[in-house]
Amino acid sequence: MANEIVFSQNHIPGIRSIDVYLEHGGYRSVKKALEMTPDEVIAEVKSSGLRGRGGAGFPTGMKWGFVPRDTGKPHYLVCNADESEPGTFKDRELMEVNPHQLLEGMIVACHAIGANRGFIYVRGEYVVPLKVLNQAIEEAYARGWLGENIQGTGFDCHISLHPGAGAYICGEESALLDSLEGRRGLPRLKPPFPAVSGLYRSPTIINNVETLCNVPHIINNGAQWFRQWGTEKSPGTKIFSVSGHVRKPGNYEVPLGTPLMTLLNEYAGGVREGHTLKAVIPGGSSVPILPAAKCDIDLDYESIQAAGSMLGSAGMIVMDDSTCMVWVARNLVHFYRHESCGKCTPCREGTDWMYRILNELEETGGRREDIDLLLDIADNMDGKCFCPLGDTSIASVVSGIEHWRHEFEAHVENRGCPMRGRAGAGLEGAAAAG
Ligand code: SF4
Repeated sequence: MANEIVFSQNHIPGIRSIDVYLEHGGYRSVKKALEMTPDEVIAEVKSSGLRGRGGAGFPTGMKWGFVPRDTGKPHYLVCNADESEPGTFKDRELMEVNPHQLLEGMIVACHAIGANRGFIYVRGEYVVPLKVLNQAIEEAYARGWLGENIQGTGFDCHISLHPGAGAYICGEESALLDSLEGRRGLPRLKPPFPAVSGLYRSPTIINNVETLCNVPHIINNGAQWFRQWGTEKSPGTKIFSVSGHVRKPGNYEVPLGTPLMTLLNEYAGGVREGHTLKAVIPGGSSVPILPAAKCDIDLDYESIQAAGSMLGSAGMIVMDDSTCMVWVARNLVHFYRHESCGKCTPCREGTDWMYRILNELEETGGRREDIDLLLDIADNMDGKCFCPLGDTSIASVVSGIEHWRHEFEAHVENRGCPMRGRAGAGLEGAAAAG
């Protein structure tokens, strides 16, 4: 199955409504899971090998297993739907098109971790998903799939929606919890980790939308069914959001391990007419950029890491030969500078300093020593920031200089961008898509 798309972009008409969802076997996994013990549900998810689809790739079943038993405190499930990574728009489609699939996965997850309440923290700009989810939650309550004693099983499960206010940092799980509690979203010191002390200082599991959407299918069909796709260490399918200089941008669900060039050329239609591939950001704006020469790889966690980047959120931004890599770095660092919460010095100062240097290079050429100064600043941020936002904000700068130092030098010699007027053409939409 390695190269085959297993789920197309053709959705079942009307699947948003609970009637159509139920007609197609919806909520079956809830009944099945509630006949299993929480430990059995966790064991099934563990053996499926499902890894978190939000970016970190942490094994989901193992995460669920971290929740302590018998603490005397309520347990919580939080769905992280604050999808803000530039180039990533898969969760939006999952929520807009098939909201009950997410609710179903959440009910099963609540049972597994001993929670009776779940929250969906949705990116504030996602107006349509919020409306759709709101409607779906109302339907699920009305039909007895949410609330007290759901379907007469004795299990209570409540789910609430919480819109964010447009801060990228609230996608970081501990900042998300602060925001959910009604405070300004700032990352928390870890440990303790949320599984032990999360929302309201109670055990909390935070899972991404796509992760939870996989759960009903694993419970219905079993771990081995899920493992028929993907690789030993990266099982299952994954939705890649493909944007940038391709003919057919969009979300593509493919088995993990599918060759990058197959996704790019066969499914996304290849790069624009008359151009050649220059670079790919394979996992959202926080991961290193791969030059075309390194793109002959398989799309799984291990292969992408071996090539020098990360699978991340699987937001794949494709760039052709019209793209200026200094412009790309400036554009992305501008985003991180704006979204830095300001809590720690390396990130707050570093993102601003890098942006000012990149802006100089792009506009007036800057100084030759600025190129190494950028690497020095990045080195002083790498691993020294309070949360991953700062650590990963350097990715485009470091990989940009590593692979395209000659372009940075050309900016100095040319007293500004040699590609001015055509640099990054068409990529603005890719960044905005996140
Ligand atoms: Fe805030 Fe950046 Fe520090 Fe994270 S790394 S805590 S976003 S200042």
